[in-house]
Amino acid sequence: MSQVLVLNASYEPLNVTSVKRAVVLVLKDKAEPIEVLVQRKFRSERRSIPYPLVIRLVKYVRVPRNVRLRISKKAVLARDSYRCQYCGRENDYLTVDHVVPRSRGGESDWENVAAACPACNTRKGNHLLHEVSMSLIRKPMAPSYIVLILLEARTVHESWHPYLSYEIRPVS
Ligand SMILES: [Zn+2]
Repeated sequence: MSQVLVLNASYEPLNVTSVKRAVVLVLKDKAEPIEVLVQRKFRSERRSIPYPLVIRLVKYVRVPRNVRLRISKKAVLARDSYRCQYCGRENDYLTVDHVVPRSRGGESDWENVAAACPACNTRKGNHLLHEVSMSLIRKPMAPSYIVLILLEARTVHESWHPYLSYEIRPVS
Protein backbone atom coordinates (compact mmCIF):
# COMPACT_ATOMS: atom_id res chain seq x y z
CA MET A 1 0.00 0.00 0.00
CA SER A 2 1.33 3.40 -0.92
CA GLN A 3 2.01 6.29 1.39
CA VAL A 4 0.63 9.79 1.49
CA LEU A 5 2.58 13.02 1.73
CA VAL A 6 1.24 15.29 4.47
CA LEU A 7 1.54 19.04 3.95
CA ASN A 8 1.20 21.70 6.58
CA ALA A 9 -1.56 24.27 6.13
CA SER A 10 1.17 26.40 4.53
CA TYR A 11 1.78 23.67 1.88
CA GLU A 12 5.19 22.85 3.32
CA PRO A 13 5.79 19.10 3.49
CA LEU A 14 5.56 17.67 7.02
CA ASN A 15 5.81 13.92 6.89
CA VAL A 16 4.64 10.73 5.28
CA THR A 17 1.69 8.70 6.51
CA SER A 18 -0.35 5.65 5.54
CA VAL A 19 -3.33 5.94 3.22
CA LYS A 20 -5.56 4.68 6.04
CA ARG A 21 -4.44 7.42 8.44
CA ALA A 22 -4.77 10.05 5.68
CA VAL A 23 -8.33 8.97 4.95
CA VAL A 24 -9.18 9.24 8.66
CA LEU A 25 -7.76 12.78 8.77
CA VAL A 26 -9.83 13.76 5.74
CA LEU A 27 -13.00 12.17 7.15
CA LYS A 28 -12.48 14.03 10.41
CA ASP A 29 -12.06 17.26 8.44
CA LYS A 30 -8.55 17.67 9.82
CA ALA A 31 -7.04 17.55 6.36
CA GLU A 32 -8.07 18.04 2.76
CA PRO A 33 -6.95 15.96 -0.19
CA ILE A 34 -4.69 17.94 -2.53
CA GLU A 35 -3.55 15.30 -5.03
CA VAL A 36 -5.69 12.22 -5.54
CA LEU A 37 -6.08 9.14 -7.66
CA VAL A 38 -9.41 9.84 -9.31
CA GLN A 39 -10.04 6.26 -10.36
CA ARG A 40 -10.15 5.01 -6.75
CA LYS A 41 -12.42 6.09 -3.94
CA PHE A 42 -12.97 5.33 -0.28
CA ARG A 43 -16.54 5.23 0.96
CA SER A 44 -17.76 5.73 4.48
CA GLU A 45 -21.44 5.74 5.40
CA ARG A 46 -22.00 9.32 4.41
CA ARG A 47 -19.10 10.29 2.22
CA SER A 48 -16.98 9.11 -0.60
CA ILE A 49 -13.48 10.45 -0.73
CA PRO A 50 -10.91 10.05 -3.48
CA TYR A 51 -7.77 7.98 -2.84
CA PRO A 52 -5.29 10.52 -1.41
CA LEU A 53 -1.70 10.97 -2.61
CA VAL A 54 -1.04 14.33 -0.95
CA ILE A 55 -3.13 15.86 1.85
CA ARG A 56 -2.95 19.26 3.52
CA LEU A 57 -3.68 19.86 7.18
CA VAL A 58 -6.43 22.36 7.78
CA LYS A 59 -4.69 23.81 10.85
CA TYR A 60 -1.07 24.94 10.81
CA VAL A 61 1.28 22.87 12.99
CA ARG A 62 4.47 24.35 14.33
CA VAL A 63 7.59 22.35 13.53
CA PRO A 64 11.07 22.81 14.89
CA ARG A 65 13.23 23.90 11.98
CA ASN A 66 16.78 23.69 13.16
CA VAL A 67 16.91 19.96 13.60
CA ARG A 68 20.35 18.96 12.44
CA LEU A 69 20.16 15.49 10.96
CA ARG A 70 22.92 13.09 11.94
CA ILE A 71 25.20 12.20 9.03
CA SER A 72 24.63 8.72 7.68
CA LYS A 73 25.24 7.25 4.26
CA LYS A 74 21.49 6.92 3.72
CA ALA A 75 20.90 10.56 4.59
CA VAL A 76 23.77 11.84 2.43
CA LEU A 77 22.53 9.90 -0.60
CA ALA A 78 18.96 11.16 -0.07
CA ARG A 79 20.19 14.75 0.26
CA ASP A 80 22.14 14.36 -2.96
CA SER A 81 19.17 12.94 -4.91
CA TYR A 82 20.96 9.60 -5.25
CA ARG A 83 23.31 11.12 -7.79
CA CYS A 84 27.07 11.39 -7.88
CA GLN A 85 27.86 15.00 -7.00
CA TYR A 86 30.82 15.05 -9.39
CA CYS A 87 29.48 13.57 -12.64
CA GLY A 88 25.78 14.03 -11.85
CA ARG A 89 24.87 10.45 -12.71
CA GLU A 90 22.72 8.03 -10.77
CA ASN A 91 24.59 4.98 -9.62
CA ASP A 92 23.63 1.91 -7.61
CA TYR A 93 26.97 1.86 -5.83
CA LEU A 94 27.25 5.41 -4.57
CA THR A 95 29.74 6.08 -1.83
CA VAL A 96 30.14 8.99 0.56
CA ASP A 97 33.15 11.11 -0.34
CA HIS A 98 34.89 13.65 1.87
CA VAL A 99 35.34 16.70 -0.37
CA VAL A 100 38.44 17.70 1.58
CA PRO A 101 39.86 14.26 2.36
CA ARG A 102 40.13 13.34 6.01
CA SER A 103 43.84 12.76 5.51
CA ARG A 104 44.10 16.45 4.54
CA GLY A 105 42.16 17.73 7.52
CA GLY A 106 38.61 17.48 6.13
CA GLU A 107 35.87 17.07 8.71
CA SER A 108 32.89 14.73 8.65
CA ASP A 109 30.28 17.44 8.49
CA TRP A 110 27.44 18.07 6.06
CA GLU A 111 29.39 20.75 4.22
CA ASN A 112 32.24 18.34 3.49
CA VAL A 113 30.51 15.12 2.39
CA ALA A 114 29.02 14.30 -0.97
CA ALA A 115 27.65 11.27 -2.78
CA ALA A 116 30.19 9.97 -5.29
CA CYS A 117 30.13 7.11 -7.75
CA PRO A 118 33.02 4.65 -7.45
CA ALA A 119 34.68 6.00 -10.61
CA CYS A 120 34.65 9.62 -9.41
CA ASN A 121 35.66 8.59 -5.90
CA THR A 122 38.66 6.70 -7.26
CA ARG A 123 39.61 9.54 -9.59
CA LYS A 124 39.52 12.01 -6.74
CA GLY A 125 41.39 9.79 -4.29
CA ASN A 126 43.17 11.80 -1.63
CA HIS A 127 43.24 14.99 -3.67
CA LEU A 128 41.66 18.35 -3.32
CA LEU A 129 39.21 19.17 -6.11
CA HIS A 130 41.45 21.66 -7.96
CA GLU A 131 44.34 19.20 -8.00
CA VAL A 132 42.33 16.78 -10.13
CA SER A 133 40.25 19.41 -11.99
CA MET A 134 36.99 18.14 -10.55
CA SER A 135 34.05 20.13 -9.27
CA LEU A 136 30.83 19.58 -7.40
CA ILE A 137 27.50 20.02 -9.16
CA ARG A 138 26.05 21.47 -5.93
CA LYS A 139 27.56 22.91 -2.78
CA PRO A 140 27.02 20.41 0.06
CA MET A 141 24.86 21.74 2.88
CA ALA A 142 23.06 20.41 5.92
CA PRO A 143 19.84 18.88 4.58
CA SER A 144 16.45 20.30 5.28
CA TYR A 145 13.90 18.21 7.14
CA ILE A 146 12.53 17.17 3.76
CA VAL A 147 15.32 14.62 3.68
CA LEU A 148 13.72 13.04 6.74
CA ILE A 149 10.53 12.60 4.74
CA LEU A 150 12.48 10.97 1.93
CA LEU A 151 14.14 8.60 4.37
CA GLU A 152 10.76 7.55 5.77
CA ALA A 153 9.15 7.15 2.39
CA ARG A 154 9.42 3.84 0.64
CA THR A 155 8.80 5.47 -2.70
CA VAL A 156 8.39 9.07 -3.69
CA HIS A 157 5.24 9.39 -5.77
CA GLU A 158 5.43 11.68 -8.79
CA SER A 159 2.52 13.73 -7.43
CA TRP A 160 4.71 14.72 -4.45
CA HIS A 161 7.41 16.37 -6.53
CA PRO A 162 5.94 19.87 -6.72
CA TYR A 163 5.71 19.97 -2.92
CA LEU A 164 9.22 18.85 -2.10
CA SER A 165 12.24 21.09 -2.45
CA TYR A 166 15.25 20.67 -4.72
CA GLU A 167 16.51 17.56 -2.93
CA ILE A 168 14.57 15.14 -5.04
CA ARG A 169 14.51 17.03 -8.29
CA PRO A 170 16.82 15.86 -11.00
CA VAL A 171 19.93 18.03 -11.28
CA SER A 172 19.56 18.93 -15.02
ZN1 LIG B 1 30.58 10.19 -10.62
